Amino acid sequence: MDMRVNPKAKLKLVMVGNGMAGVRTIEELLKLAPDLYDITVFGAEPHPNYNRILLSPVLAGEQTLDEIVLNDWAWYSDNGITLHAGKTVTEVDRVKRVVRATDADGTMIEAPYDRLIMATGSNPFMLPIPGKDLAGVLAYRDIADTQAMIDAATRYSHAVVIGGGLLGLEAANGLMKRGMAVSVVHVGPWLMERQLDEVAGQLLQKSLEERGMTFLMGAQTQELLGGEDGRVKAIRFKDGSEVPADLVVMAVGIRPNTALAESMNLHVNKGIVVSDTLQTVTDPRIYAVGECAAHRGIAYGLVAPLFEQGKVLATHLAEFGIGRYVGSLTSTKLKVTGIDLFSAGNF
Ligand SMILES: Cc1cc2nc3c(=O)[nH]c(=O)nc-3n(C[C@H](O)[C@H](O)[C@H](O)COP(=O)(O)OP(=O)(O)OC[C@H]3O[C@@H](n4cnc5c(N)ncnc54)[C@H](O)[C@@H]3O)c2cc1C
Repeated sequence: MDMRVNPKAKLKLVMVGNGMAGVRTIEELLKLAPDLYDITVFGAEPHPNYNRILLSPVLAGEQTLDEIVLNDWAWYSDNGITLHAGKTVTEVDRVKRVVRATDADGTMIEAPYDRLIMATGSNPFMLPIPGKDLAGVLAYRDIADTQAMIDAATRYSHAVVIGGGLLGLEAANGLMKRGMAVSVVHVGPWLMERQLDEVAGQLLQKSLEERGMTFLMGAQTQELLGGEDGRVKAIRFKDGSEVPADLVVMAVGIRPNTALAESMNLHVNKGIVVSDTLQTVTDPRIYAVGECAAHRGIAYGLVAPLFEQGKVLATHLAEFGIGRYVGSLTSTKLKVTGIDLFSAGNF
């Protein structure tokens, strides 16, 4: 006689974060072991999993939001996955092994786990300057930000993007395509200085200027000025000069989203610290994958390495524990139609 309480009960797998790295991990797991787990996913955004990378073509009017969905609502139910979309996990009890999330109306949802995946991504960094909380000051990370930029472009004319890296230039290009006059403020010596050398950075700037973009290189933002309506109206620099702005997009970097992990007392250092099997070093039942994870001291910010992590994590969850993630080399491509820019390796 089988003495187990319920020999057929599946293990419970819960994932916090319904983004690109996490859902790719689940896809890989379903290929390897479709019946091993009861899967529950919590996602703070009220959407099914979508291709975040393609927000830039959406902003530029080249694609629609519907076209960038990677896994629609039916995918979750077809695969027996319980999705709590629009629900932010606020607490994890590691002793009772329960995840707790709160609804917009304050209702609490609980989900017990045997294995837990943290896939909370990153938060955009907002410069801590006066005026950062004014209406019309945005980051560029998700559908809500993209929608807010698209709406602003129908009503306002002057946009300033702070940050001349990949994300900032894609935001600037999209807003320009939507008819706004766009200035890019960049403190670095040339554009995309992490990926390009000086000659390439200047070539890129010239091509973008020919399309109508304006650059304020070396400009140091001091504060954002608001109008009587509470909306941003100008940006002021340290030298006292001002530029009109009724939309300000900050694209000055990202930080791994580790607040929940820290509240759970998981070891965090530049991200949630994981081993080569993507297990947190603190609790072997808990894994981390994607931009929130720090592997050998690196938190990656591009999808290719995150998908490699997801593959290894899936093999481990599927109990084919031979895969090891050993790190990745990265490359980037600027998604501005008409400018073919690709960067790889060290220069
Ligand atoms: C506009 C834009 C363009 C990009 N272009 C490129 C590109 O060209 N090439 C490239 O490689 N990368 C690009 N990236 C980066 C790429 O999108 C990210 O590396 C990737 O999305 C990271 O995946 P992730 O799953 O770690 O995080 P995310 O995709 O951000 O997913 C994390 C999810 O977790 C949710 N979450 C967080 N905390 C909680 C919680 N407590 N409870 C519930 N849910 C929570 C978040 O709401 C989010 O939906 C781009 C990013 C942006 C914003």
